[in-house]
Amino acid sequence: MKLLEHMGKEIFREYGIPVPAGMVAEKKEDLERIDIPFPWVMKAQVLVGGRGKAGGIKFASSMEEAKNAFDEIMAMEIKGERVRRVLVEEKLSIEKEYYLSFFLDRSSRNYLMMFSSQGGVDIEAMAENITKVYINPLAGLQGYHLRKIPKEVRDVAKRLYKIFTEKDCELAEINPLVISEGKAIAADSKIIVDNNSLYRHPELPAEDVELTPLEREAREKGIAFIQLDGNIGVIANGAGLTMATLDALNEFNGRGGVFLDLGGTDNPEKVKQAFELMVKAEPSVILLNLFGGITKCDTVARGIIEFMSQHEIKCPVVARIKGMNEEVAREMLKDYVIAVESFQEAAKKAAELGGD
Ligand code: GDP
Ligand code: MN
Repeated sequence: MKLLEHMGKEIFREYGIPVPAGMVAEKKEDLERIDIPFPWVMKAQVLVGGRGKAGGIKFASSMEEAKNAFDEIMAMEIKGERVRRVLVEEKLSIEKEYYLSFFLDRSSRNYLMMFSSQGGVDIEAMAENITKVYINPLAGLQGYHLRKIPKEVRDVAKRLYKIFTEKDCELAEINPLVISEGKAIAADSKIIVDNNSLYRHPELPAEDVELTPLEREAREKGIAFIQLDGNIGVIANGAGLTMATLDALNEFNGRGGVFLDLGGTDNPEKVKQAFELMVKAEPSVILLNLFGGITKCDTVARGIIEFMSQHEIKCPVVARIKGMNEEVAREMLKDYVIAVESFQEAAKKAAELGGD
């Protein structure tokens, strides 16, 4: 379960990690009751990533500006997710922006602490300057682990680790962890709690913030649909193929924005619904990777054509179609998609078209 930023910050506060003074506003009138001196930073509360880039963070230096910013933010839909509320905080003067996180690293069967002195941007974008420290979960965080990161953030790291373990997190991240007036302070929070342990945490918000609205809509329609941080929408059939497609994109520096598994379907209507959902997520390119078996290629093609002949899709669709009735499907789709022969080529093409 992902927590909204303001919920994560409440936990930070409880565990003694400094956070900016802040209050949540759901209606414009709420702003009047906020007694934080200007300037403010106003932040859309959404679960999808890339909020800052999408314009979901605004600054205000008067009540009038704040009200305008509030209206603008509440009218936003970020990657298909409506803004539920706005977190209003004192604007910090930033001296440094660090990145700090604890992560459950399944491949090494360890906890992983990551630190970077170039925070503020996506972790993927910092590839270069990341300090990675593996922590044996049985031994826990030790002094020598902490000595690998700057002194000024060690206390925060200790406390974040406590949150990470006590709340059964998959991820506890502060990005950016800023240095403001010589002090470390968490300007953002990202916490993902392991769903399997939710029963141990009645203290966590009961409110279902786990799914984005599009994910919830997909669940109702019986479509496996997960929103990720990238911008390439992947449609494939079978969870394995869908994941392999995301991995293939990674090879070409493409970043998956949506995981959509058509599953085994022989119903064009379901394919149409899947495309409808995908388009609402506003990917910059759609990559369709189809291996026809139970799901026949021409069935999928029919669904796609039904959708595309009624709606204008603003982004290109790259398609790799193999298996049952592939020739028919390819012929049907030739005016609708960019057809590519191999899996590799498809991933490469989509990564190219979907570059930021
Ligand atoms: P995200 O982009 O959705 O992760 O949102 P963040 O909360 O991480 O904020 C993105 C960026 O906005 C930060 O890296 C800062 O550069 C800037 N920002 C956020 N809060 C403040 C603030 O209080 N003061 C200043 N000067 N910049 C801020
Ligand atoms: Mn951030």
